[in-house]
Amino acid sequence: MQKYLYLILLSVLIPACSPGAGKSAAGGKRVLTVTIEPQRYLLDRIVGDLFTVNTLVPPATSPETYEPAPSVMVELGKSEIYFMVGDLGFENAWSKRLAENNPDVTLVNCSEGIALMEEHDHDHGHAHCGADPHVWSSPQAVKLFVRNMLNALVKADPGNAEVFRANFDAFSAKIERTDSLIRDLLRDAPSRSFIIYHPALAYFARDYGLHQLSIEFEGKSPSPSQIRELVDAARKEKINTVFIQRGFDTKNAAVVAQEVGAEVFEIDPLRYEWDEELLKIAAVLARKTDE
Ligand SMILES: [Zn+2]
Repeated sequence: MQKYLYLILLSVLIPACSPGAGKSAAGGKRVLTVTIEPQRYLLDRIVGDLFTVNTLVPPATSPETYEPAPSVMVELGKSEIYFMVGDLGFENAWSKRLAENNPDVTLVNCSEGIALMEEHDHDHGHAHCGADPHVWSSPQAVKLFVRNMLNALVKADPGNAEVFRANFDAFSAKIERTDSLIRDLLRDAPSRSFIIYHPALAYFARDYGLHQLSIEFEGKSPSPSQIRELVDAARKEKINTVFIQRGFDTKNAAVVAQEVGAEVFEIDPLRYEWDEELLKIAAVLARKTDE
């Protein structure tokens, strides 16, 4: 029944939204879709001006809790390729519906071939540990991520394959430079551990020999005893940095920071300027503190 309604909705909305062209946005450019803003940045590096790239998750919204409206599904139907992060929030359940309703849209899992870490909170092992989807915090993982994008683009638009490949080579060199800049910054960081509200930096921490402790516990606000445990661990590890993120709770972070005498910094792992954000995070961790 739902599917039937959906088809009616599609037939009503599509002619109204895209006069004339089947798969072109206003201005005639072909359309690609990604889940989050850093992905749009990565894809823009490869396609240049050849495509318009849409992002599904609005700014300052957690992709883990975001539920796309039916109208978003209709918009997505105009896209040639939907580049998923992999298994982030709604993506998995949603991509099946998308594939059924829009058989012409190619689905690409950008995390394919990347060894996924298990998602941990506070390092407590628990039975329902899932894969950690935040691969884009690792420049080395992003090299594979972008290669998956390249492969799909070459298949979809072989006429521009040379352009895509040249852009890919140039951007791969930039990823390497970013990686070594971060390494240089973190070499003498005063503390190798940090606290973050939502654990979005596990791959970053792994790559650079850091320890991430999260305030959020299994996707929820922590209990007073969990905060106590975290504060104890933070004192032991001499943590001086607490990261908060746009779109997430900040009250618990302020409490923890005050308890351990750490500074609070706002970061945005969902920022469009992907490499600048990683460099900013590294610079915060590398800052000299008077002790
Ligand atoms: Zn997340």
